[in-house]
Amino acid sequence: MMQVTFLGTGTSTGIPQIGCTCSVCTSTDPRDSRLRTSAIVEIEGKNILIDCGPDFRQQMLRFHIKRIDAVLVTHIHYDHTGGIDDLRPFGENGTVPIYLEPSVAEGIRNRLPYCFADHRYPGVPNICLQEIGLSPFLIAGIEIVPIRVMHYKLPILGYRIGRFAYITDALTIPESEYEKLKDIDVLVVNALRKKPHLSHQTLADASRIIDRVGPREAYLVHMSHHMGLTSEVEKELPAHVHFAYDGLVIDSL
Ligand SMILES: [Zn+2]
Ligand SMILES: [Zn+2]
Repeated sequence: MMQVTFLGTGTSTGIPQIGCTCSVCTSTDPRDSRLRTSAIVEIEGKNILIDCGPDFRQQMLRFHIKRIDAVLVTHIHYDHTGGIDDLRPFGENGTVPIYLEPSVAEGIRNRLPYCFADHRYPGVPNICLQEIGLSPFLIAGIEIVPIRVMHYKLPILGYRIGRFAYITDALTIPESEYEKLKDIDVLVVNALRKKPHLSHQTLADASRIIDRVGPREAYLVHMSHHMGLTSEVEKELPAHVHFAYDGLVIDSL
């Protein structure tokens, strides 16, 4: 049994974007308010967080999450790692392992040196960095499969757990990685907006990946306000493709 909750589904600015008065940023549809992209996977009694962005504290409070057993990080950008210091309360009963690539670990050590000092002052986050490559690894017996995707020129990670795969901030997926996306029931993939962007997929790009992978259901994340109103743009999507929204739970996994 596995359940996924979308904690945030917005791009790096979140929606509403500060100071913006566009129809999306002023929408009263709760699906149009998007915290920075993150999700939590509950599987076999464990809570595995994917990314820990600057809205992490608010997300934990809003969704009443009392326990984090592990964190999977996709890449170093602040909208995916800016909340790591807020893991403090979760480390009170044991170290929280954070799985990430070596280059990302180096970035976190530089940004939060006090978490890794020999003599740490009381209260600092009780975390440890577990460096991973592209080989599958286990968290409490649960297999996690890293997937290489490209965020323009930056190699970053998506993750597969069972028949669920989560990809954010991709522009392209190397040909070799599609093998890892076979027989997926639920695919999460990023779609920033309709117009092209240097480092993010458009809605059309995401649709092509969904068509190729062929999941039973697909959910879009990391949207900007330029995507338009959820209620309007979702009419353009095929029946098995959905805009994720903050608080959406998938429990048919
Ligand atoms: Zn991002
Ligand atoms: Zn706006």
